[in-house]
Amino acid sequence: MHIAIVGGGVTGLSAAWELQQRGIKFTLIEASDHWGGKVVSSKINLINNANFLVEGGPDTLITRKPEAWNLANELGMRDQMVNPGSETNGTYVLDHSVLYPIPVSASRFISTPLLTVRGKLRMLAEPFQPARRDYEDESLADFVRRRLGREALEKFIGPVLGGIYNTDPETQSIMVSSPVMREMEREGGGLVAGAALRAFRGRKKSGQKIPRFVSFKNGLQALTDELARQLKGDLRLNTRVERMSQNNNGYQIFTEDGTTVHADGVILAVLANQASALINDISPETSRRLSAIRHQNIGTLSLVYRKSDIPRQPVISGVMIPRREKRMIDAITFTSRKMPERSTEGYAVLRIFIGGGAPEMVEFGDEKLIEAVKRELAELLGISAAPQTWTAFRWQNGFPQADVGHLKRVDEIEKNLPPNLALAGSSYRGIAVPDCIRQGREAAEKLFHYTKEHKK
Ligand SMILES: Cc1cc2nc3c(=O)[nH]c(=O)nc-3n(C[C@H](O)[C@H](O)[C@H](O)COP(=O)(O)OP(=O)(O)OC[C@H]3O[C@@H](n4cnc5c(N)ncnc54)[C@H](O)[C@@H]3O)c2cc1C
Repeated sequence: MHIAIVGGGVTGLSAAWELQQRGIKFTLIEASDHWGGKVVSSKINLINNANFLVEGGPDTLITRKPEAWNLANELGMRDQMVNPGSETNGTYVLDHSVLYPIPVSASRFISTPLLTVRGKLRMLAEPFQPARRDYEDESLADFVRRRLGREALEKFIGPVLGGIYNTDPETQSIMVSSPVMREMEREGGGLVAGAALRAFRGRKKSGQKIPRFVSFKNGLQALTDELARQLKGDLRLNTRVERMSQNNNGYQIFTEDGTTVHADGVILAVLANQASALINDISPETSRRLSAIRHQNIGTLSLVYRKSDIPRQPVISGVMIPRREKRMIDAITFTSRKMPERSTEGYAVLRIFIGGGAPEMVEFGDEKLIEAVKRELAELLGISAAPQTWTAFRWQNGFPQADVGHLKRVDEIEKNLPPNLALAGSSYRGIAVPDCIRQGREAAEKLFHYTKEHKK
């Protein structure tokens, strides 16, 4: 029995790892020249010995979802994991072109001009709102409005969540992006009570102290590089799959370079919009349903400045920009403040997120892109100097949007798949790296059971 995995991002690599643990032969096929997909860490060296480590895609992993932590431990990477902290101090939100600190402490909450007294009282009334205990989906916006009020949604929770998920909270499914908030409501009757209950349970649990977030000393790509290094199957880079066909014994996978791979089962670890094209010959109906999952542009730029070129201002570690502000960028993180060990004294590194509010930014050429970003930074933060250097990462139609009802649609798609074909990755059941690892491993498990049944 032989399984083919299409896509060598963290999902495909995790699927391969799981198959290897179960003793199944596999071929892992990746279109680009590197493993890891969106997990990409890059070193920047300036001539005067100034070194920087930047991330194109993910930079931290949440350990509440344990799959990445567990996988890193299985790979023997414990000593490479670092705690990036989860400091929210210094995060600002843009409201009518003015930057306000996000009120993260009680005193800030009381004094912030971002919310009216009425808005604050409505938030404080959260514990007294009726609890919803069912499992039906709703939008992130509806959830926040219901529990915390309209102002909380519009002024900062919406922009923060919208920024994290690069999405419009009005359409985003809560069951995909923040099911934990609905769990807290179900368990404790509300967010405050649910959080208290969780903290109490957490304290009672003994054992290893795990940080809330982890990263890797040499960047997140260390994880996918190590995964690829420890895989012993047939690994093919620079090989784009063009289409697939099904026969009695499994599948034929046709690649751009003219080779054909025969497999008893296939895991499609690519985005739904990419999987859609690949399985059109096998099931036009599934292909149509996959193409209905929306994907949006996304990109990041990392810019290196001399510290002296950044105007003196209150310590800003990040800026969230709601779409209603109609800016060309979605968020800014001062990575040199968040992870100073990745930068050099005397310099500041900013990471800019693009593609949500102004999707066309991801399609701009280098010159037009940097000019647009420089204009935004001058207007928002008063930075008039040019960066010393910069680098950009862009993914066109690369960021899945889980609209309300998404999980039901995925259930429907999966119900109609043959037992020897699996879909896995960020377009389906969660976008975070741990979600992708879980889905990759579950897909491998599904095909492992198929091979066992088939042998009988
Ligand atoms: C800017 C950004 C920031 C993020 N931040 C975080 C974060 O901090 N924490 C977190 O947990 N998550 C974060 N995420 C989400 C997370 O990085 C992604 O959801 C995850 O990496 C997706 O992995 P994947 O393997 O499913 O897909 P991808 O990484 O997209 O990999 C799919 C692979 O399939 C290949 N492929 C496509 N078509 C074909 C074909 N026809 N033939 C062969 N190969 C093909 C592609 O080349 C690609 O390598 C972030 C994402 C982005 C973009």
